[in-house]
Amino acid sequence: MPRPDLLNRLAQAHADRAQADLLRRLRTVREADGAWIAVDGRRLLSFASNDYLGLAQHPRVTEALVDAAQRWGVGATAAHLLGGHRAEHEALEHDLAHWLGRERALLFSTGYMANLGVLGALLGDGDVCVQDKLNHACLIDGARLSGAELKRYPHNDVDGARRQLDAAPDAGAVLATDGVFSMDGDVAPLPELAALCRERGALLHVDDAHGLGVLGADGAGSVAAAGLSAHDVPIHMATLGKALGVAGAFVAGSAALIDGLVQFARTHVYTTAMPPALAAAARAAIGLARFEHWRRERLATLIAHFRHGAQRRGFVLLPSGTPIQPVLVGASGDALRLSRDLEARGFYVPAIRPPTVPNGKARLRVTLSALHTETDVERLLDALALGGAQGMQNAH
Ligand code: PMP
Repeated sequence: MPRPDLLNRLAQAHADRAQADLLRRLRTVREADGAWIAVDGRRLLSFASNDYLGLAQHPRVTEALVDAAQRWGVGATAAHLLGGHRAEHEALEHDLAHWLGRERALLFSTGYMANLGVLGALLGDGDVCVQDKLNHACLIDGARLSGAELKRYPHNDVDGARRQLDAAPDAGAVLATDGVFSMDGDVAPLPELAALCRERGALLHVDDAHGLGVLGADGAGSVAAAGLSAHDVPIHMATLGKALGVAGAFVAGSAALIDGLVQFARTHVYTTAMPPALAAAARAAIGLARFEHWRRERLATLIAHFRHGAQRRGFVLLPSGTPIQPVLVGASGDALRLSRDLEARGFYVPAIRPPTVPNGKARLRVTLSALHTETDVERLLDALALGGAQGMQNAH
């Protein structure tokens, strides 16, 4: 038997995806100015970014980056353990731990790597990793790579999670969940999951990529918003690339957890440390995210405005109180058509289609930012109505 031709197999998968009209399009943004982006020669108002608080282009954040780059240069030059761990990294880890009320925090270059690192360090053969079906891909991949058995439960179904844990009562267990689900915008039932983990002796790991900065009185995220403590959620992970507008990620927890990760989280050990200037930028962004409460208040107003207007117009929303406000469409082709129609009207709102979401659950993923105004939201709602977003409801 000849070996399979792997490039040919990849090309076939590409052709199959094209045939199903599910190809993803890589597009280049030529300019970005707040919520405005220039794509293919046109200026579009974006409702697609995760810059929820509007910090990605904040002058204090960019100045912090430039100042630190002047002092440190661009690259960290090495992995953390081999001379790459700079004072900026240490200060950022300290600020993050303090913000979230944890003993310590550890930086990773991306959220994807943070989840691979922490699950890989904790889990191995014979263990189980119990996860919500809608968890982000990097939690799923982290469990797979760890060698533990991955057991998934229906979305936000605490009884389902209990059954999965009880099916392996003697195995080491991590229960991992998104704090805010990236494609649905709803929040995990953290108090119930924390109680379950306590009863069953499992470690709760919350990926708060979309909750940090947005939820909780001073933006400390979904764990604080649920009134939970470090004791309830021993592993709190989040990215710096969404509400903080920078890049990178961290895991916050006990000193013992972080000491273990420094030794055994392979995506921390065997990779170049993030540029120190990014750490400085993240520190500036944390200052704004924590103390400029008006950004969260503005978001809350926009979310209420969007939901009220969308429901009045008959669009199908999901039960989300966060800046992620998907408009459910159903069929992939309809979602794509609606997204193109919006673009013709001056808005950038990507269609999210299978395999990112289940079949028949294609949607427009609208994300709101403190950069938007109520007029922007009103104009988007009108454009969605003109495109027929309410008609989709009848079809499904
Ligand atoms: N977790 C969740 C829930 C996410 O939405 C994302 C980003 N798409 C990540 C982790 C990965 O974070 P990063 O972009 O920093 O790799």
